[in-house]
Amino acid sequence: MDLNLIEQASEAYEPQLGDNDRARMSFFKGLWKLQQEYVERAQASLDHALPGEEQLLAWYWDEKPLFLMAPLTINEELFLSALKDCAGYVADNAGVADEAVSVLRGFDWKKLLNEVGLEQAGYDPGSWLVGAVEAAAKLIATQASTVEAGVDEAGAVGIVLSCALKPMLEPAAKQAMSHYKPDRDAYESHAKPLRCPVCGGHAGLAYVGDTPSGEGKGRMLYCTTCTAHWEFERIRCAHCGTQSQGKLHYFHVEGDPAHRLYLCDECSSYLRTAFLSELPTAFCMEVEDVIMARLDHVANSVAIKSQRKDS
Ligand SMILES: [Zn+2]
Ligand SMILES: [Zn+2]
Repeated sequence: MDLNLIEQASEAYEPQLGDNDRARMSFFKGLWKLQQEYVERAQASLDHALPGEEQLLAWYWDEKPLFLMAPLTINEELFLSALKDCAGYVADNAGVADEAVSVLRGFDWKKLLNEVGLEQAGYDPGSWLVGAVEAAAKLIATQASTVEAGVDEAGAVGIVLSCALKPMLEPAAKQAMSHYKPDRDAYESHAKPLRCPVCGGHAGLAYVGDTPSGEGKGRMLYCTTCTAHWEFERIRCAHCGTQSQGKLHYFHVEGDPAHRLYLCDECSSYLRTAFLSELPTAFCMEVEDVIMARLDHVANSVAIKSQRKDS
């Protein structure tokens, strides 16, 4: 996470943001600062032994996620501290309902970790998160003396879990990605990994621009779980993998060609995509993630429209 770049990019967007987006950006800027402190602490104690580059690349092309093959050990004490700090920040700044604030303040993170364990977070963090959020919802329900856990409470705890986990993974993902240097021939002769080569998650965002093998016109996928990014085919669904051109298309809101939805009619998924050459500022993944959140709102209505067109 590059806080200077975040500052520069968010400032460039500032004039075009409405009140809600401005508040969201300000919330995230505080959160990123907190996360970056934990990235640095996780970096300082990073102990992730990697095999040689040949083995790393073999796993890469075989679509065997690195963490699955060489699990990461997450420092429980550091993670607990990150969970508490993120929970405090979300409680103070996210504008969630009072019930969610009191759940966040009183939540027993240690008990949750004892219940779900931390091992899986080191080899399949995406699945671990799903299980941890479910377990947390049950804990909230048993802790709350009055009503059962509402969507808000469970949602807030879920946000804290993923926000605190990311900095635990980022240094290892960065270290691993610095070893992936596939040559151009390899890129041309292999299908590219559909899932994150580091943690095995699905891509959360994409961007089109410079890539290792496609100057200016290549496409990169970004993993919002561990922050790895990797090159992907320009025309291919990052969810189901279809390359059927007729099923894949871009959609963007009028006046904003820099941010588009890549829609797949085959599996009804979409992927938010930034076009680097159209951006008003230097490219910063974290800031683009917040800016592109607006596309999530239009994604559903677009999906409904395209279904109507089909029938
Ligand atoms: Zn990942
Ligand atoms: Zn698809």
